[in-house]
Amino acid sequence: MPGRRFFLAAASALAATATLAPTRASVATRARIVILGAGAAGLSMASRLAQRLDGATITLVDARKAHYYQPGFTLVAAGLKPAAYAVSRTADFVSPSVRLVEDRAVEIDPEARRVTTAGGQRLDYDFLILATGLSLDYAAIAGMDIARIGRDGLGSVYAGPEAAAATWRAMSAFADRGGTALFCRPSTEMKCAGAPLKYAFLTDDTLRRRGNRGKAELIYNAHNKVLFSVPIVAEKLRMLYRDRGITVNHEHELAAIDPGARTATFRTASGMVPIRYDFINVVPPMRAPEVVRNSPLRWQQGPFAADGWAEVDRATLRHRRYANVFAVGDVAGVPKGKTAASVKWQVPVAVDHLVADIEGRESTERYNGYTSCPMITRVGRAMLVEFDYDDNLVPSFPGVIAPLEELWVSWIMKEVGLKPTYLAMLRGLA
Ligand SMILES: Cc1cc2nc3c(=O)[nH]c(=O)nc-3n(C[C@H](O)[C@H](O)[C@H](O)COP(=O)(O)OP(=O)(O)OC[C@H]3O[C@@H](n4cnc5c(N)ncnc54)[C@H](O)[C@@H]3O)c2cc1C
Repeated sequence: MPGRRFFLAAASALAATATLAPTRASVATRARIVILGAGAAGLSMASRLAQRLDGATITLVDARKAHYYQPGFTLVAAGLKPAAYAVSRTADFVSPSVRLVEDRAVEIDPEARRVTTAGGQRLDYDFLILATGLSLDYAAIAGMDIARIGRDGLGSVYAGPEAAAATWRAMSAFADRGGTALFCRPSTEMKCAGAPLKYAFLTDDTLRRRGNRGKAELIYNAHNKVLFSVPIVAEKLRMLYRDRGITVNHEHELAAIDPGARTATFRTASGMVPIRYDFINVVPPMRAPEVVRNSPLRWQQGPFAADGWAEVDRATLRHRRYANVFAVGDVAGVPKGKTAASVKWQVPVAVDHLVADIEGRESTERYNGYTSCPMITRVGRAMLVEFDYDDNLVPSFPGVIAPLEELWVSWIMKEVGLKPTYLAMLRGLA
């Protein structure tokens, strides 16, 4: 069994890969590249393109000045970090040769190759990158009021860093008193599908630490018949939930909430089922942001059409109908990959295909669906679950970090290793 020092070395090695900048020579071009969204994917894309191209006009569009390190929201909502831990400034990660337009894109015309912003700017492009992330559709839950998060037992880790901190206050108050806690996930595609599951584990752990587990009932309402999309992980989670005494209901989707009465109503096969709670972590339906959903770039049919995800090839991330358009990050309509860890593997692929177009060669780079979920099972323990499109487990440290074991090193990866790697990724260095 390797010792702690080894594990720390592994974690810092992960972070150290961050310092390896791409070494390929710059390609001269006058191409105009517009990137919509300056989150994990957009910033990383802009930084890498700035490294690979010489003379390109790279325009990054995002109205939000703050950058959110969203994997940190879970740690904030566990009371382990302040809200500020997850917040930085977008401008600090923008390469000097990239132009940042602090505005929101409202229209894309892929025939005219033009984006229009809310402020009326028209941005003509040769290449367009969709990196808008996704939108949280709280309005789809009748009665939901994000202003009440933190009060009356209402939590929602997803709503932002302050909401994550407010969720911790609500969960902590619940852990002092006990009662019924509800956890759920939407039936739409979602970012970090492990996050709602982690939060049930963290609530269980907080109750145990305070000696109050016996006073509480924890219920996880899954939208379908399984807890997780990867079968072997789903089975492991089923066993862990059973051991922790977390009740699982299947085919329950949150439809409405009455925060005053502390009642959540779930859509089930046998009709609407109201459940009273003392604490709830609301996870809303997630869809492509309007600018993509309302554009011709969305999937026209198939499983990604209803919520307007971008119609890209799952291996190259290139748009299937507009070859000069790519989508990276959460907005991409591909079967897996809505994590920051996926962004790390998607961006180099999309960048290489775009640069190859400019150079007149063909790129052989492929994205295999790599998705990573550090599944926290209690404070100080996690399972580093990594998988691909075909549900194969693809561990980064085979033989060292077992993906389905609750390990301290996997916790350290999440708590210590992930953020420096993430920030380096924004700068195109990881
Ligand atoms: C609670 C939680 C826990 C998570 N845990 C993990 C984890 O442990 N590991 C992991 O790898 N991932 C985790 N994730 C997922 C990860 O944070 C996302 O997958 C990642 O941020 C996706 O990057 P993105 O660039 O696609 O989207 P984002 O980082 O969300 O960025 C999208 C950007 O686009 C901008 N935008 C939106 N619309 C427009 C528009 N019309 N015009 C211009 N700009 C626009 C937004 O303002 C935003 O800045 C977690 C997420 C959450 C919420």
